[in-house]
Amino acid sequence: MNNVKEYLVKLEENQREKYPNQPEYLQAVAEFVGTVEPFLVKHPEFMEKNILEMLLIPERIIEFRIPWMDDKGAWRINTGYRVQYNSALGPYKGGMRFHPTVNQSVIKFLGFEQIFKNSLTSLPIGGGKGGSDFDPKGKSDGEIMRFCQSLMRELQKYIGPNEDVPAGDIGVGAREIGYMFGEYKRLNGYQAGVLTGKPLAYWGSLARKEATGYGLVYFVEHLLNDCNDSIKGKKVLVSGSGNVAIYAIEKAQELGASVYGCSDSSGSLIDPDGIDLDLIKDIKEVKRERINTYLEQHPNAKFYEGKNIWDIEFDYDVALPCATQNEISKELANQLVKNGVAIVAEGANMPTSLEALEVLKENKIIYCPGKAANAGGVAVSALEMAQNAQRLPWTFEKVDAELNQIMKNIYETSRQTSLEYVGEFDLVAGANIAGFARVAEAMVSQGLV
Ligand code: GLU
Repeated sequence: MNNVKEYLVKLEENQREKYPNQPEYLQAVAEFVGTVEPFLVKHPEFMEKNILEMLLIPERIIEFRIPWMDDKGAWRINTGYRVQYNSALGPYKGGMRFHPTVNQSVIKFLGFEQIFKNSLTSLPIGGGKGGSDFDPKGKSDGEIMRFCQSLMRELQKYIGPNEDVPAGDIGVGAREIGYMFGEYKRLNGYQAGVLTGKPLAYWGSLARKEATGYGLVYFVEHLLNDCNDSIKGKKVLVSGSGNVAIYAIEKAQELGASVYGCSDSSGSLIDPDGIDLDLIKDIKEVKRERINTYLEQHPNAKFYEGKNIWDIEFDYDVALPCATQNEISKELANQLVKNGVAIVAEGANMPTSLEALEVLKENKIIYCPGKAANAGGVAVSALEMAQNAQRLPWTFEKVDAELNQIMKNIYETSRQTSLEYVGEFDLVAGANIAGFARVAEAMVSQGLV
């Protein structure tokens, strides 16, 4: 074993010993550490300065109590988190997730990935992430508001436009951002740039809502263009039906692809006539209902109760996992292979397990890791910060054009970096190394801090 490999193995072992109860975090670390050896071999100075270990330890973790009252007057308690992971490239930046599965491991894995994702955008943002185990499902608007206000009463101590800028993620959209923004303003005065993903009425950015989904499809389109192909005419399935999935479907359809399926936590939907996106938007964005109500208007479609969409036998080219972490297990990766899928591009964060990743690799399926392919959301968040600082709103066309260019750069940088360091097309290694190189350089030049 060379000394770089030894260093990396020790580092990972050390994290396993310290955090045996944080499987998601350890998975993100394993995926990352497994790819950076060729970079450290060429740049031993980063190993000599132990930058990787410094990077693994968050600069700060804040864990706090969120008390709130439900509609019946009962006292309820949730746990809130903010992991301020790395500020070498700018203020901590990353979303807030409200979901019952949230715990310190999940927020750490998301924060860790966010460092490299944000670095890949080439915009001045560090990495952070937060959230709560609060379950927004079935909660009234009043309950959501009171919860968001209580959360912000504590979180406001630690954030600011030049300090840490939260945004949305699963369970957090413009409504929740609005309630958090109102509470922050009441306590600290008007600071437009303290949160991103704000409603358009007060300094939200045009195209932010669409950005993660659009960016994902732009990424795939640049990849296909590189092979003298395009997404036009391709058959696509998308998991999820939240913000990322909806706008991935919209852009894929706009560029001429046929999208046949999407899903939610109750099951999966396949429409052989192609997904009616206006109806999905009405069900999910307006009525906030289950996806099976789609069948009332499209009896031709089929709903698979409780079934993961990747478990369905169907002939398609592109899989866009846009639901949540580890939604593609090894078995489901085998099903993707059977279905003849050529590309898997991640709209969600870490939707593919390490074992599934191996299956995709062995079968030469092109795999676009989330930290590259879904960076469009946070990239437009950074553009929202720029607009807020300028006190000027940009047009939809301007933001969308910047987004497309950023996704093109991320694709090209990841591709070129993998060719340079690994000698083959490997977007995982390329994205990890390119994201890491910039952060590492910034950390070294800022000294031991
Ligand atoms: N939650 C999104 C992500 O995973 C967006 C974060 C942001 O806009 O700050 O990148």
